Amino acid sequence: MTVSESTFLTAKPILLAPGPVQLHPEVQKILSLPMIHHRTPEFDGIFKTVLKNLKYLFQTKNDVYIQTSTGSGGMECVLVNVLNPGDHVLAVVSGKFGERWADMAETFGAIVHRLNCPWGHAVQITDVIAALKAHPEVKIVLTQACETSTATTHPIQELGKLLSTTNVLFLVDGITATGAFPTPMDEWHIDGLVAGSQKAVMLPTGLSFVSFSQKAWPHILKNKMPRFYFDIRKEQLANQKGESFFSAPVPLIRSLDFVLKEIENISLEKHFKIIHSRAEYTRLMSPHLHLELFSKSPSDSVTAYLLPPNFEGAKFREHLEKKYALTVMGGQDQLKGKVIRLGHMGFISREDLHQTSLRIASGLNDFGFKLNLDEINSISQNLLKSY
Ligand SMILES: *Cc1c(COP(=O)(O)O)cnc(C)c1O
Repeated sequence: MTVSESTFLTAKPILLAPGPVQLHPEVQKILSLPMIHHRTPEFDGIFKTVLKNLKYLFQTKNDVYIQTSTGSGGMECVLVNVLNPGDHVLAVVSGKFGERWADMAETFGAIVHRLNCPWGHAVQITDVIAALKAHPEVKIVLTQACETSTATTHPIQELGKLLSTTNVLFLVDGITATGAFPTPMDEWHIDGLVAGSQKAVMLPTGLSFVSFSQKAWPHILKNKMPRFYFDIRKEQLANQKGESFFSAPVPLIRSLDFVLKEIENISLEKHFKIIHSRAEYTRLMSPHLHLELFSKSPSDSVTAYLLPPNFEGAKFREHLEKKYALTVMGGQDQLKGKVIRLGHMGFISREDLHQTSLRIASGLNDFGFKLNLDEINSISQNLLKSY
Protein backbone atom coordinates (compact mmCIF):
# COMPACT_ATOMS: atom_id res chain seq x y z
CA MET A 1 0.00 0.00 0.00
CA THR A 2 1.26 3.48 -0.81
CA VAL A 3 1.28 6.27 1.75
CA SER A 4 -1.73 7.97 0.20
CA GLU A 5 -3.73 4.73 0.10
CA SER A 6 -3.21 4.08 3.76
CA THR A 7 -4.36 7.59 4.67
CA PHE A 8 -7.60 7.26 2.68
CA LEU A 9 -8.69 3.73 3.32
CA THR A 10 -10.56 2.51 6.37
CA ALA A 11 -11.02 -1.12 7.34
CA LYS A 12 -14.81 -1.10 7.80
CA PRO A 13 -16.38 -3.95 5.83
CA ILE A 14 -18.77 -2.67 3.16
CA LEU A 15 -21.51 -4.72 1.55
CA LEU A 16 -22.68 -3.08 -1.65
CA ALA A 17 -24.31 -6.03 -3.37
CA PRO A 18 -27.64 -5.54 -5.12
CA GLY A 19 -29.06 -7.62 -2.27
CA PRO A 20 -28.66 -8.64 0.44
CA VAL A 21 -28.03 -5.08 1.56
CA GLN A 22 -26.60 -3.34 4.61
CA LEU A 23 -29.17 -3.10 7.39
CA HIS A 24 -30.27 0.00 9.26
CA PRO A 25 -28.74 -0.12 12.79
CA GLU A 26 -32.25 0.05 14.23
CA VAL A 27 -33.23 -3.04 12.24
CA GLN A 28 -30.24 -4.88 13.69
CA LYS A 29 -31.52 -4.03 17.17
CA ILE A 30 -35.10 -5.03 16.36
CA LEU A 31 -33.87 -8.39 15.08
CA SER A 32 -32.40 -9.18 18.49
CA LEU A 33 -35.53 -8.40 20.55
CA PRO A 34 -37.08 -11.21 22.62
CA MET A 35 -39.53 -13.30 20.63
CA ILE A 36 -43.26 -12.78 20.90
CA HIS A 37 -45.98 -15.05 19.53
CA HIS A 38 -47.57 -14.13 16.23
CA ARG A 39 -51.10 -14.73 17.55
CA THR A 40 -51.09 -11.94 20.14
CA PRO A 41 -52.69 -8.49 20.27
CA GLU A 42 -49.20 -6.94 20.21
CA PHE A 43 -48.27 -8.65 16.97
CA ASP A 44 -51.74 -8.13 15.46
CA GLY A 45 -51.21 -4.38 15.89
CA ILE A 46 -47.87 -4.48 14.07
CA PHE A 47 -49.24 -6.71 11.32
CA LYS A 48 -52.18 -4.39 10.68
CA THR A 49 -49.92 -1.33 10.44
CA VAL A 50 -47.51 -3.12 8.12
CA LEU A 51 -50.28 -4.20 5.74
CA LYS A 52 -51.52 -0.62 5.56
CA ASN A 53 -48.07 0.87 5.02
CA LEU A 54 -47.15 -1.63 2.31
CA LYS A 55 -49.84 -0.02 0.16
CA TYR A 56 -47.89 3.22 0.34
CA LEU A 57 -44.74 1.44 -0.79
CA PHE A 58 -46.60 -0.19 -3.70
CA GLN A 59 -48.55 3.02 -4.43
CA THR A 60 -51.77 1.06 -4.63
CA LYS A 61 -55.29 1.00 -3.23
CA ASN A 62 -55.27 -2.80 -3.51
CA ASP A 63 -54.16 -5.03 -0.66
CA VAL A 64 -50.53 -6.08 -0.50
CA TYR A 65 -49.76 -9.58 0.82
CA ILE A 66 -46.71 -10.77 2.71
CA GLN A 67 -45.21 -14.14 1.87
CA THR A 68 -42.56 -15.85 3.97
CA SER A 69 -40.32 -16.70 1.04
CA THR A 70 -37.47 -15.25 -0.96
CA GLY A 71 -38.27 -13.03 -3.92
CA SER A 72 -38.58 -16.02 -6.23
CA GLY A 73 -41.42 -17.28 -4.04
CA GLY A 74 -43.15 -13.96 -4.64
CA MET A 75 -42.67 -14.43 -8.40
CA GLU A 76 -44.19 -17.89 -8.11
CA CYS A 77 -47.07 -16.53 -6.05
CA VAL A 78 -47.94 -13.91 -8.64
CA LEU A 79 -47.76 -16.51 -11.40
CA VAL A 80 -49.74 -19.39 -9.89
CA ASN A 81 -52.57 -17.13 -8.86
CA VAL A 82 -53.34 -15.78 -12.33
CA LEU A 83 -51.91 -18.38 -14.72
CA ASN A 84 -53.84 -21.36 -16.10
CA PRO A 85 -51.89 -24.34 -17.41
CA GLY A 86 -51.79 -23.94 -21.19
CA ASP A 87 -51.99 -20.13 -21.15
CA HIS A 88 -49.77 -18.27 -23.56
CA VAL A 89 -47.28 -15.97 -21.86
CA LEU A 90 -44.96 -13.36 -23.32
CA ALA A 91 -41.80 -13.14 -21.21
CA VAL A 92 -39.30 -10.32 -21.55
CA VAL A 93 -35.94 -12.03 -21.13
CA SER A 94 -33.05 -9.61 -20.73
CA GLY A 95 -30.98 -11.45 -18.15
CA LYS A 96 -30.95 -14.09 -15.41
CA PHE A 97 -34.15 -13.09 -13.68
CA GLY A 98 -36.12 -12.80 -16.89
CA GLU A 99 -34.96 -16.32 -17.71
CA ARG A 100 -36.02 -17.51 -14.28
CA TRP A 101 -39.56 -16.19 -14.59
CA ALA A 102 -39.95 -17.63 -18.10
CA ASP A 103 -38.67 -21.03 -16.85
CA MET A 104 -41.05 -20.86 -13.92
CA ALA A 105 -44.04 -20.16 -16.15
CA GLU A 106 -43.06 -23.15 -18.31
CA THR A 107 -42.80 -25.32 -15.21
CA PHE A 108 -46.41 -24.43 -14.43
CA GLY A 109 -47.56 -25.41 -17.90
CA ALA A 110 -47.58 -22.08 -19.72
CA ILE A 111 -46.68 -21.79 -23.38
CA VAL A 112 -43.95 -19.20 -23.12
CA HIS A 113 -42.92 -16.87 -25.93
CA ARG A 114 -39.57 -15.36 -25.00
CA LEU A 115 -38.86 -11.84 -26.11
CA ASN A 116 -35.09 -11.90 -25.86
CA CYS A 117 -33.33 -8.56 -25.44
CA PRO A 118 -29.59 -8.12 -25.69
CA TRP A 119 -28.20 -8.02 -22.14
CA GLY A 120 -27.88 -4.45 -20.92
CA HIS A 121 -30.65 -3.15 -23.16
CA ALA A 122 -34.18 -2.20 -22.20
CA VAL A 123 -37.02 -3.91 -24.04
CA GLN A 124 -38.36 -1.90 -26.98
CA ILE A 125 -42.08 -1.13 -26.85
CA THR A 126 -42.31 -1.70 -30.61
CA ASP A 127 -40.90 -5.22 -30.11
CA VAL A 128 -43.55 -5.94 -27.50
CA ILE A 129 -46.27 -4.68 -29.83
CA ALA A 130 -44.92 -6.89 -32.62
CA ALA A 131 -44.71 -9.93 -30.34
CA LEU A 132 -48.30 -9.44 -29.18
CA LYS A 133 -49.39 -9.18 -32.80
CA ALA A 134 -47.53 -12.36 -33.67
CA HIS A 135 -49.05 -14.15 -30.65
CA PRO A 136 -52.55 -12.76 -30.18
CA GLU A 137 -53.36 -15.64 -27.80
CA VAL A 138 -51.00 -14.20 -25.14
CA LYS A 139 -52.78 -13.64 -21.82
CA ILE A 140 -49.91 -12.54 -19.61
CA VAL A 141 -46.79 -10.41 -20.06
CA LEU A 142 -43.89 -10.91 -17.65
CA THR A 143 -41.04 -8.50 -17.10
CA GLN A 144 -38.57 -7.26 -14.54
CA ALA A 145 -38.76 -3.57 -13.63
CA CYS A 146 -35.01 -3.81 -13.09
CA GLU A 147 -33.09 -6.78 -14.49
CA THR A 148 -30.60 -7.02 -11.64
CA SER A 149 -28.13 -9.25 -13.51
CA THR A 150 -27.49 -6.48 -16.05
CA ALA A 151 -28.42 -3.42 -13.90
CA THR A 152 -30.98 -2.42 -16.51
CA THR A 153 -34.45 -0.89 -16.18
CA HIS A 154 -37.37 -1.54 -18.49
CA PRO A 155 -40.04 1.01 -19.52
CA ILE A 156 -42.69 -0.19 -17.09
CA GLN A 157 -44.93 2.87 -17.33
CA GLU A 158 -45.14 2.63 -21.13
CA LEU A 159 -45.71 -1.12 -21.08
CA GLY A 160 -48.46 -0.73 -18.49
CA LYS A 161 -50.14 1.91 -20.59
CA LEU A 162 -49.96 -0.28 -23.66
CA LEU A 163 -51.42 -3.33 -21.92
CA SER A 164 -54.07 -1.44 -19.95
CA THR A 165 -56.26 -1.19 -23.05
CA THR A 166 -56.09 -4.98 -23.65
CA ASN A 167 -57.16 -8.10 -21.76
CA VAL A 168 -53.52 -9.04 -21.21
CA LEU A 169 -52.31 -9.08 -17.60
CA PHE A 170 -49.08 -7.22 -16.87
CA LEU A 171 -46.95 -8.92 -14.20
CA VAL A 172 -43.87 -7.13 -12.93
CA ASP A 173 -40.93 -8.40 -10.90
CA GLY A 174 -40.07 -5.31 -8.86
CA ILE A 175 -37.63 -7.03 -6.53
CA THR A 176 -34.87 -4.48 -7.17
CA ALA A 177 -37.31 -1.70 -8.05
CA THR A 178 -40.27 -1.38 -5.70
CA GLY A 179 -38.82 0.61 -2.81
CA ALA A 180 -35.82 1.83 -4.82
CA PHE A 181 -37.41 3.81 -7.65
CA PRO A 182 -40.99 4.55 -8.71
CA THR A 183 -43.24 1.64 -9.71
CA PRO A 184 -46.64 3.14 -8.78
CA MET A 185 -48.76 0.07 -9.27
CA ASP A 186 -52.16 1.67 -9.86
CA GLU A 187 -51.02 4.63 -11.92
CA TRP A 188 -48.85 2.45 -14.17
CA HIS A 189 -51.50 -0.26 -14.64
CA ILE A 190 -49.47 -3.11 -13.16
CA ASP A 191 -51.67 -6.19 -12.57
CA GLY A 192 -49.31 -8.20 -10.40
CA LEU A 193 -46.30 -6.72 -8.62
CA VAL A 194 -43.70 -8.48 -6.48
CA ALA A 195 -41.12 -6.96 -4.13
CA GLY A 196 -38.43 -8.68 -2.07
CA SER A 197 -37.12 -8.03 1.42
CA GLN A 198 -33.34 -8.25 1.02
CA LYS A 199 -33.19 -5.88 -1.92
CA ALA A 200 -35.25 -2.71 -2.24
CA VAL A 201 -37.03 -3.24 1.09
CA MET A 202 -33.74 -3.11 3.02
CA LEU A 203 -34.31 -6.13 5.28
CA PRO A 204 -32.72 -9.56 5.59
CA THR A 205 -33.79 -12.24 3.12
CA GLY A 206 -37.04 -14.04 3.85
CA LEU A 207 -40.05 -11.95 2.83
CA SER A 208 -41.69 -11.27 -0.49
CA PHE A 209 -44.59 -8.92 -1.11
CA VAL A 210 -47.24 -9.23 -3.78
CA SER A 211 -50.26 -7.28 -4.91
CA PHE A 212 -52.87 -7.75 -7.63
CA SER A 213 -54.98 -5.26 -9.58
CA GLN A 214 -58.77 -5.32 -9.89
CA LYS A 215 -58.22 -6.60 -13.42
CA ALA A 216 -56.28 -9.60 -12.05
CA TRP A 217 -58.69 -10.63 -9.28
CA PRO A 218 -61.33 -12.38 -11.45
CA HIS A 219 -58.49 -14.54 -12.84
CA ILE A 220 -57.34 -15.40 -9.32
CA LEU A 221 -60.82 -16.53 -8.33
CA LYS A 222 -61.50 -18.72 -11.35
CA ASN A 223 -58.11 -20.06 -12.37
CA LYS A 224 -57.44 -23.80 -12.33
CA MET A 225 -53.80 -23.80 -11.30
CA PRO A 226 -53.07 -26.09 -8.34
CA ARG A 227 -51.68 -23.93 -5.54
CA PHE A 228 -51.39 -24.28 -1.81
CA TYR A 229 -48.65 -22.34 -0.01
CA PHE A 230 -48.96 -19.40 -2.39
CA ASP A 231 -52.76 -19.45 -2.69
CA ILE A 232 -53.47 -15.77 -2.18
CA ARG A 233 -57.17 -16.40 -1.50
CA LYS A 234 -56.28 -18.03 1.85
CA GLU A 235 -54.01 -15.16 2.77
CA GLN A 236 -56.68 -12.65 1.79
CA LEU A 237 -59.24 -14.27 4.12
CA ALA A 238 -56.76 -14.40 6.99
CA ASN A 239 -55.66 -10.78 6.42
CA GLN A 240 -59.29 -9.66 6.52
CA LYS A 241 -59.36 -11.05 10.07
CA GLY A 242 -56.13 -9.17 10.84
CA GLU A 243 -54.00 -12.31 10.74
CA SER A 244 -51.51 -14.09 8.54
CA PHE A 245 -52.58 -17.53 7.29
CA PHE A 246 -49.32 -19.28 8.16
CA SER A 247 -46.96 -18.50 11.05
CA ALA A 248 -45.59 -14.99 10.64
CA PRO A 249 -41.82 -14.39 10.88
CA VAL A 250 -42.10 -11.94 13.78
CA PRO A 251 -38.55 -10.45 13.70
CA LEU A 252 -38.79 -9.71 9.98
CA ILE A 253 -42.25 -8.18 10.23
CA ARG A 254 -41.21 -6.00 13.15
CA SER A 255 -38.22 -4.81 11.12
CA LEU A 256 -40.47 -4.23 8.13
CA ASP A 257 -42.69 -2.08 10.35
CA PHE A 258 -39.68 0.09 11.17
CA VAL A 259 -38.48 0.38 7.56
CA LEU A 260 -41.92 1.27 6.20
CA LYS A 261 -42.38 3.96 8.86
CA GLU A 262 -38.93 5.34 8.08
CA ILE A 263 -39.81 5.57 4.39
CA GLU A 264 -43.12 7.25 5.18
CA ASN A 265 -41.38 9.73 7.48
CA ILE A 266 -38.84 10.62 4.82
CA SER A 267 -41.50 10.28 2.05
CA LEU A 268 -41.21 7.85 -0.82
CA GLU A 269 -40.22 10.68 -3.14
CA LYS A 270 -37.24 11.74 -1.01
CA HIS A 271 -36.28 8.14 -0.36
CA PHE A 272 -36.11 7.57 -4.13
CA LYS A 273 -34.05 10.74 -4.49
CA ILE A 274 -31.48 9.46 -2.01
CA ILE A 275 -31.10 6.18 -3.88
CA HIS A 276 -30.99 8.05 -7.19
CA SER A 277 -28.14 10.23 -5.92
CA ARG A 278 -26.13 7.15 -4.90
CA ALA A 279 -26.63 5.73 -8.39
CA GLU A 280 -25.79 9.08 -9.96
CA TYR A 281 -22.60 9.31 -7.90
CA THR A 282 -21.59 5.80 -8.97
CA ARG A 283 -22.29 6.61 -12.63
CA LEU A 284 -20.34 9.86 -12.44
CA MET A 285 -17.35 8.05 -10.94
CA SER A 286 -17.25 5.63 -13.86
CA PRO A 287 -15.03 7.67 -16.24
CA HIS A 288 -12.63 8.48 -13.40
CA LEU A 289 -12.23 4.79 -12.61
CA HIS A 290 -11.82 4.09 -16.34
CA LEU A 291 -14.72 1.64 -16.17
CA GLU A 292 -17.65 2.08 -18.55
CA LEU A 293 -21.24 1.55 -17.54
CA PHE A 294 -22.50 -1.75 -18.88
CA SER A 295 -26.17 -0.89 -19.16
CA LYS A 296 -27.70 1.28 -21.88
CA SER A 297 -30.65 1.86 -19.56
CA PRO A 298 -28.99 2.11 -16.14
CA SER A 299 -31.00 1.41 -13.03
CA ASP A 300 -31.03 3.51 -9.87
CA SER A 301 -30.94 0.39 -7.72
CA VAL A 302 -27.76 -1.21 -9.07
CA THR A 303 -24.88 -0.18 -11.33
CA ALA A 304 -22.74 -2.52 -13.42
CA TYR A 305 -19.22 -1.35 -14.26
CA LEU A 306 -17.81 -3.04 -17.34
CA LEU A 307 -14.31 -4.39 -16.77
CA PRO A 308 -11.72 -4.15 -19.56
CA PRO A 309 -11.41 -7.06 -22.02
CA ASN A 310 -9.17 -9.90 -20.82
CA PHE A 311 -9.33 -8.63 -17.27
CA GLU A 312 -9.45 -11.24 -14.52
CA GLY A 313 -12.83 -10.10 -13.29
CA ALA A 314 -13.67 -12.93 -10.92
CA LYS A 315 -10.26 -12.67 -9.25
CA PHE A 316 -10.62 -8.90 -9.02
CA ARG A 317 -13.96 -9.19 -7.22
CA GLU A 318 -12.45 -11.64 -4.77
CA HIS A 319 -9.45 -9.37 -4.29
CA LEU A 320 -11.75 -6.47 -3.36
CA GLU A 321 -13.32 -8.67 -0.73
CA LYS A 322 -10.11 -10.12 0.68
CA LYS A 323 -7.82 -7.10 0.65
CA TYR A 324 -10.32 -4.24 0.96
CA ALA A 325 -13.30 -5.80 2.79
CA LEU A 326 -15.55 -4.60 -0.02
CA THR A 327 -18.28 -6.95 -1.20
CA VAL A 328 -19.68 -6.20 -4.62
CA MET A 329 -21.18 -8.71 -7.05
CA GLY A 330 -19.68 -10.06 -10.23
CA GLY A 331 -21.52 -11.01 -13.39
CA GLN A 332 -23.48 -14.17 -14.13
CA ASP A 333 -23.49 -16.39 -17.22
CA GLN A 334 -22.39 -14.39 -20.27
CA LEU A 335 -21.27 -11.56 -17.95
CA LYS A 336 -19.19 -13.80 -15.69
CA GLY A 337 -15.92 -12.02 -14.91
CA LYS A 338 -16.88 -9.11 -17.16
CA VAL A 339 -18.64 -6.73 -14.80
CA ILE A 340 -18.85 -5.77 -11.16
CA ARG A 341 -22.25 -4.77 -9.84
CA LEU A 342 -22.75 -2.27 -7.04
CA GLY A 343 -26.06 -2.02 -5.22
CA HIS A 344 -27.56 1.29 -4.15
CA MET A 345 -30.26 -0.07 -1.85
CA GLY A 346 -30.12 -0.45 1.91
CA PHE A 347 -28.30 1.52 4.59
CA ILE A 348 -25.44 3.23 2.76
CA SER A 349 -23.54 6.23 4.08
CA ARG A 350 -21.69 8.85 2.12
CA GLU A 351 -18.45 7.47 3.53
CA ASP A 352 -19.42 3.99 2.28
CA LEU A 353 -19.73 5.39 -1.23
CA HIS A 354 -16.45 7.25 -1.00
CA GLN A 355 -14.63 4.22 0.41
CA THR A 356 -16.11 2.03 -2.31
CA SER A 357 -14.61 4.21 -5.04
CA LEU A 358 -11.24 4.35 -3.30
CA ARG A 359 -11.14 0.62 -2.73
CA ILE A 360 -12.13 -0.16 -6.29
CA ALA A 361 -9.47 2.26 -7.56
CA SER A 362 -6.82 0.74 -5.30
CA GLY A 363 -7.86 -2.74 -6.37
CA LEU A 364 -7.66 -1.74 -10.04
CA ASN A 365 -4.15 -0.43 -9.44
CA ASP A 366 -3.23 -3.78 -7.88
CA PHE A 367 -4.39 -5.27 -11.20
CA GLY A 368 -2.25 -2.99 -13.36
CA PHE A 369 -4.27 0.25 -13.65
CA LYS A 370 -2.45 3.51 -13.02
CA LEU A 371 -5.15 5.56 -11.35
CA ASN A 372 -4.14 8.58 -9.29
CA LEU A 373 -5.68 7.97 -5.89
CA ASP A 374 -5.26 11.55 -4.70
CA GLU A 375 -7.21 12.72 -7.70
CA ILE A 376 -9.93 10.11 -7.23
CA ASN A 377 -10.14 11.01 -3.58
CA SER A 378 -10.84 14.66 -4.33
CA ILE A 379 -13.18 14.02 -7.29
CA SER A 380 -15.22 11.67 -5.15
CA GLN A 381 -15.32 14.09 -2.25
CA ASN A 382 -16.49 16.85 -4.55
CA LEU A 383 -19.24 14.71 -6.04
CA LEU A 384 -20.39 13.69 -2.59
CA LYS A 385 -20.76 17.30 -1.47
CA SER A 386 -24.03 17.51 -3.36
CA TYR A 387 -25.11 14.05 -2.20
C1 LIG B 1 -32.86 -11.16 -6.44
C2 LIG B 1 -33.87 -11.15 -7.49
C3 LIG B 1 -34.79 -12.20 -7.63
C4 LIG B 1 -34.73 -13.45 -6.81
O1 LIG B 1 -34.89 -13.21 -5.48
P1 LIG B 1 -34.52 -14.33 -4.40
O2 LIG B 1 -34.83 -13.58 -3.14
O3 LIG B 1 -33.08 -14.66 -4.54
O4 LIG B 1 -35.41 -15.48 -4.62
C5 LIG B 1 -35.74 -12.10 -8.61
N1 LIG B 1 -35.80 -11.05 -9.44
C6 LIG B 1 -34.94 -10.03 -9.34
C7 LIG B 1 -35.06 -8.90 -10.29
C8 LIG B 1 -33.95 -10.04 -8.36
O5 LIG B 1 -33.08 -9.03 -8.27
